Amino acid sequence: MDIDDHSLARTQRSDDRASGSLATTEFDESAIAVALELAAELRRATATYPGPAPGEIDAAEVVAYLRRAPTAPVAPAVEGRPDFSLECAVQKLPAAERHLVAVDACPVCESEWARARFALPGVGLRIVDCTQCGLGRVHPRPDAELIAQFYPPSYYGVTGAKFVPLIEALVRLVGARHVRALSRGLQPGAGVLDVGCGRGVLLSGLARRGFEAHGFEMSASAAAGVDPRAVVRVGKSLREADYPSAYFDQVIIWHVLEHLPDPRETLQEIRRVLKPGGRLVVAVPNYSSLQARCSGANWFHLDPPRHLFHFTAEGLRQLLASTGFDIEREHHFSLRQNPFGWVQSALNCLSRLPRNGLYSLLKRRDDHLPVSGRRGRLLFLAAYWLGMPLACVQSVIDACLRRGASVCVEARSQS
Ligand SMILES: [Zn+2]
Repeated sequence: MDIDDHSLARTQRSDDRASGSLATTEFDESAIAVALELAAELRRATATYPGPAPGEIDAAEVVAYLRRAPTAPVAPAVEGRPDFSLECAVQKLPAAERHLVAVDACPVCESEWARARFALPGVGLRIVDCTQCGLGRVHPRPDAELIAQFYPPSYYGVTGAKFVPLIEALVRLVGARHVRALSRGLQPGAGVLDVGCGRGVLLSGLARRGFEAHGFEMSASAAAGVDPRAVVRVGKSLREADYPSAYFDQVIIWHVLEHLPDPRETLQEIRRVLKPGGRLVVAVPNYSSLQARCSGANWFHLDPPRHLFHFTAEGLRQLLASTGFDIEREHHFSLRQNPFGWVQSALNCLSRLPRNGLYSLLKRRDDHLPVSGRRGRLLFLAAYWLGMPLACVQSVIDACLRRGASVCVEARSQS
């Protein structure tokens, strides 16, 4: 007798009972038989259920599982593609895979939960967004060995130059204007520290203008060609550089905070080395910008896994306020960062082109040529020269809406 037969029998017994023609014992025996059959069905169903047995779920085990963040398998190299070990593929996760992930405390709001948004299949990591403040981060945090692979000497530039000559000249021109803007209001001889000074373009300009220029850099090879008028310390963290307390009049951390494993600790250390009332200038790509939202996984400034964190403008303000800074100004326009971001992000939307191929072409990455054919190079350069004017206009609009692709905040250390 199967379950349907039992059900029919049960219905029949109920009808009979209502008419008073069925003995009680007969009904009880039938009910027990039905119950035994159903129990057997339940046991069979439980045995094939892939999850943990009911009643044995360990919450701590679930959280530990989420912290390990199962990642996509490493994708095999695609045949025929050039080597882009400096660029990491990004894929938007489908809604069904945007799982909740347990993470280390958020540097902005201390929440320990984030939601997966993008996959980085080449390195088996993901970009997850804080559920409370929206801060993006690479998860799980990549180890030092993996990160080091993404900072070869060519990342900083060969022999002190980062780009092809014409672009290098433009970068230096914009850089000189930038130094003037950054040093506005500083007294002659003021001490300025550039955190993450790289090859020292900014330091050179500061020294030329008569400031006491100091630089901190994590890569010794990057800082090797810095202007000798500047003093550079190299270390694993700003704290390790061990600068004296209340020494600097100004600290600049320009598109560097997002690369660091502990942005909160870095800002606390900056506050320690700044004089009370000293000025901090911090700039980061803006995760809440129109460019970021429109480009999604193709956003140039995602730059994974080098950018370990992705700050929203609101999140950056919150982080600065909680580390002892009073915000004075906020800018959303950067000629160096924003228009190019639009052009490269738009090119990244074309799946046939290599990710960040234009950027690689403009950089002196002698060991990683993005396009081998002359036609491909011409296509990229045409996109650059035709796209930049339009991108400049869009970047001005973004800035007016306070949704620029990068955000720069000037703040004072609280006395
Ligand atoms: Zn958060």
